[in-house]
Amino acid sequence: MKTIDLLIVGSGPAGVSTALHLLQQDPGWAERLIVIEKARHPRPKLCGGGVTRLGLKVLSGLGLSQTLPLPMAWVEDVRFVYRGRTIHVRGQPQVQIFYRAELDAYLANQACRRGVTIRQEETVAGLAFDNNGVTVRTDRETFRAQVVVGADGSKGISRRHVQGTGAHTRVARLLEVLAPAASEAPPFNGQSAEFDFTPAERDLQGYFWDFPAFVGGKPHANRGVYDARLMAGRRRADLPGILGTSLAAHGRPSDGQAIAGHPIHWFSPGGSFSRPRLLLVGDAAGADPLFGEGIAPALAYGKLAAQAAQDAFVRGDFSFRDYRRRILTSELGQYLLIRWLIAWASYRLSDKRWFMETMWTLGKIATAVFAPPPPIRQAAPADPGEAFTSPEGCQE
Ligand SMILES: Cc1cc2nc3c(=O)[nH]c(=O)nc-3n(C[C@H](O)[C@H](O)[C@H](O)COP(=O)(O)OP(=O)(O)OC[C@H]3O[C@@H](n4cnc5c(N)ncnc54)[C@H](O)[C@@H]3O)c2cc1C
Repeated sequence: MKTIDLLIVGSGPAGVSTALHLLQQDPGWAERLIVIEKARHPRPKLCGGGVTRLGLKVLSGLGLSQTLPLPMAWVEDVRFVYRGRTIHVRGQPQVQIFYRAELDAYLANQACRRGVTIRQEETVAGLAFDNNGVTVRTDRETFRAQVVVGADGSKGISRRHVQGTGAHTRVARLLEVLAPAASEAPPFNGQSAEFDFTPAERDLQGYFWDFPAFVGGKPHANRGVYDARLMAGRRRADLPGILGTSLAAHGRPSDGQAIAGHPIHWFSPGGSFSRPRLLLVGDAAGADPLFGEGIAPALAYGKLAAQAAQDAFVRGDFSFRDYRRRILTSELGQYLLIRWLIAWASYRLSDKRWFMETMWTLGKIATAVFAPPPPIRQAAPADPGEAFTSPEGCQE
């Protein structure tokens, strides 16, 4: 049996951010932690790939450029639409959109270069907790860890070990279609991303999205529907029907493109985020319920978990009793709390036209009053080659 101080399950943005933040605190962590990843980078990940300024700030705190050397769509105009009325939220950029396989491979490479060991194509099959540590069984061997960080996403196993995370509730449903697009056509030509809430009239507790994307450097359109299912008592929306109608309404029939679906476990202040010797990060802890935004939160959770783990080893106290307070009082916690409050209040009434019209009027006033954030300088064109390197170097 291999012994290790800290074992991270999953090498998505949450797991890699946790490892990078630990190394930033103390380079000695390179010898004390291990990341177990069931897939191999670059691995497919169903996702719109939009990274907001919260995530760019975390990356910059890790010494990474705020414009990563990857193909990306630089979105300066985020449009919120309801029945033809549009609120423009602008920034330079407001969001950067990446192809997730490339983004995650890039981040994993960065971790490897800084000395993190990521064991790929190895699946964590079981966790057993006792007073002195955690026994982690993978499909290759058994580890004995002092602390486990659960970064295994919405469908992972680690959150099942934490009581009260709403393992079967608090789950949003998403459908996505990815199709090649012309770079001179919208949304590329306007550097815009659209969130259309019109289908809220049809029981959707969410929106239809239309994002520009680059896949292997080639322009694509990433479209789909998000249904928070926050109000479980409301009638279930017909997601495939709404997706089909929305694509057609935008003049973009799905043309036989494959439709793929995936859940997102969302954040609730009433949820639980840890148990003795286990910290949850990213989707395992909970993404934003309003939009289903999870990449920036995952990066930010990593920073909090790294601080909590570091302090636990210093104090010799692995109860993680204060992790919830750390989350709720952090910038991430405020961000998620506000999103949760708005989602909770608005998805209750989002099928009422008067409510949505009022929200759009208030939104237009807010965007007129608040100035856009300061611009971020765009970096030199990307080197897509690096993104496709699988982090072999750090494989044990
Ligand atoms: C259709 C769709 C569109 C989305 N669009 C956006 C968007 O535009 N912007 C945004 O911010 N968010 C978006 N999200 C949410 C975003 O994808 C997630 O919030 C984000 O991926 C969370 O990161 P994570 O690191 O917590 O988990 P993940 O990215 O899911 O990573 C978990 C990792 O753990 C590994 N793993 C799982 N189980 C095990 C195991 N047992 N053993 C070992 N490894 C394991 C997986 O292989 C994976 O690599 C979208 C989600 C969906 C479904």
